[in-house]
Order: sequence, then C-alpha cells, then structure tokens
Amino acid sequence: MVVVMTPGATPADVEAVVGLVRSAGGQAFVSRGLSRTIVGLVGDVTDFEALNLGSLPGVLQVIRVSVPFKLVSREHHATRSVIRVGGVPIGPDTLTVIAGPCAVESPEQTLEAARMAKSAGASMLRGGAFKPRTSPYSYQGLGEQGLRILADVRAETGLPVVTEVIDPSSVDMVASYADMLQVGARNMQNFALLQAVGSAGKPVLLKRGFSATIEEWLSAAEYIAQRGNLDIVLCERGIRTFETATRNTLDISAVPVAQRLSHLPVIVDPSHSGGRRDLVLPLTRAAIAVGADGLLIDVHPEPKEALCDGDQALAEADIREIADVLAAMTPLMGRMLALPAEELGRIVAGV
Ligand code: PEP
Ligand code: MN
Repeated sequence: MVVVMTPGATPADVEAVVGLVRSAGGQAFVSRGLSRTIVGLVGDVTDFEALNLGSLPGVLQVIRVSVPFKLVSREHHATRSVIRVGGVPIGPDTLTVIAGPCAVESPEQTLEAARMAKSAGASMLRGGAFKPRTSPYSYQGLGEQGLRILADVRAETGLPVVTEVIDPSSVDMVASYADMLQVGARNMQNFALLQAVGSAGKPVLLKRGFSATIEEWLSAAEYIAQRGNLDIVLCERGIRTFETATRNTLDISAVPVAQRLSHLPVIVDPSHSGGRRDLVLPLTRAAIAVGADGLLIDVHPEPKEALCDGDQALAEADIREIADVLAAMTPLMGRMLALPAEELGRIVAGV
C-alpha cells in the first residue's frame, strides 16, 4: 500500500501517518520527492485499511498496489520523473548521454576520454575506479586514487561524475567523490548494497542484472527507494541469451516496458550490450528510436591499450559519427540533447 501526501502536507501530517501504521504493527518508509512525499507501507493490508488513512490531514490518496514494487511504480506516480545529476536532467524531455572509459587508468587517459565524451554530446562522465570483474585476475581498478582522478577531471571539464560502487562498506567514501553512484549488473540483487546507496544521498544508476526479469530489476530499485531515495535511473545493458555473436542481447523492449511500469528514467548501454565497437552506433540508433531517456557509452583514447572492455570502446575516429547521430535523431523524438551544466549556464547568460 502507498500513501500519497498532498503537496502542502506538513512533516507532522507525515509523522501522523507513520505513527498510525507503526501502531498497527506495520512498517512505513517515507520518500520525499521534489513535489510530494509518499509513504510506502509494509504489513497486513487489511490492518491498514481499518486505519482509514485517507481521512487524515495531508493525505491525498491511499493506493493498494498489486506489484512487488510500489514507490517506483507508475500506479502511484503517473507522470514520468526527471532526475537531476549535478544540474543535468535525465527524463522524458531530454536525451542524456553519459560517456567515459570503462575503467579510470590515469589522469591523462581520463581527461582525454572526458574530452571525447563531451565532443560526442555527453553531459556526464562515467568511469570505473572499483571494477567488479568476472575473473579475480582481471584489472580491478585504481580504487580511491581513481576517484580522485575523476574529481579532478570534473573540476577541469564541468562534467558530473558517475562511478560504480561495489560493496556497502565503501558507499560513503565513493559518494564523497561522485555525483551519481552506479550499481552494476553483477550487484543488481546485492540488497545490502542497494539499501546502502538508498541512504547515501546521491542519485543512483541501477543497471539491469544480465539474468534479471524486468520485475526483479524494478524490485531492486524499490530497495533503494524504500530507503528514501527516489533519484534512480534504470539502465538496460543487455541480457544473457543463447546467442553468442554478441556479448549480451540488448533487450530493446525492456525500455518501453520499464517506462510503462515505472516512473523512473530508463537509459540504454549500447557498449556492454553488443560488446563490440561496430555495434555501438546501430544500437544507439535503436535506443533513441525506442524512446530511451539516455545512453551510457564507453569511449577510450586508445582502445587497443584499454585495461578493461577495449573492444567495445569508441575511439577518436568514431566520435564525429556518434555526435551526428545524436544531433540528428534526438529532435525527431521530441527531445533535447541534455547539455553539460556549464554550457547551459553560458546559453542562459547569453555568452
Ligand atoms: C560497467 O559499466 O563497466 C560494467 C561493469 O557494466 P555491467 O555492470 O553492466 O556489466
Ligand atoms: Mn565495462
């Protein structure tokens, strides 16, 4: 069950709802959004119905939810959400491109990749400092040193930084550097991690597990939302199928399905989906055409030398083409390409 508060509800109104629910033996999770507060209830629905919560001051609506996710569902939040990361919007009116190297390797490589990302049309930088590698012998990332590099490159380029966090104990440390926390496919059902990022006070990029159903993916998002954080962006990154020609199979239909079930933005990662540089452009076109709210694209100044996922990284020679596709296709979908905050500032100031 979900209780939707009116925009003018006071903290005391919210507390009254929470207190009544607890007195009936239930749990109440409060999520404060930009325009309104909602309270997700866990417990016996018949007990809650007896409380007549709908008659309390500040309560707009009480909704019975039939799906295993509530706070992230469109049943109680009909309009699609806009999430802001360092001033950059991700939502239904924009196409927001996040790009960067799979792994942060050095200050020079990261700065160069950020420059490539910007020329491609990206408004955010993604780079991994903690890499969740399938083999323990593969490159594991620079750790905190990588986060410092990302923060320096943000200062130099103005691009907000997205980076992955792989265990609950390092969430606060990673959050102290990042503008947005990435939870990767391998950790999509690491529930302790989901709860920790839900409490970290930063927006979260939640990748779909490669064997997760859409319902499991949205239920994972619910763990984050239940901790009071509704700033979540979902990322479809390909699922595991019988097909071996591609690294994963991009589940393009997951985009409209997830957007219909959830109010959260849904973006596509064409790089990890296909796993091949030559597939990034066609999968990008497909993602834009199907209505994705953004893209997550790997770029690297020297893909052949990359310590992680070089085969799928766009090189300098590919940047012009991807920029042209983004510029041409975005308006066709009735969207605007999201701009880096400093560029927006320049436009607003008329310089
Ligand atoms: C990544 O984004 O570099 C990554 C590890 O992706 P995924 O979790 O989708 O495999
Ligand atoms: Mn990668």
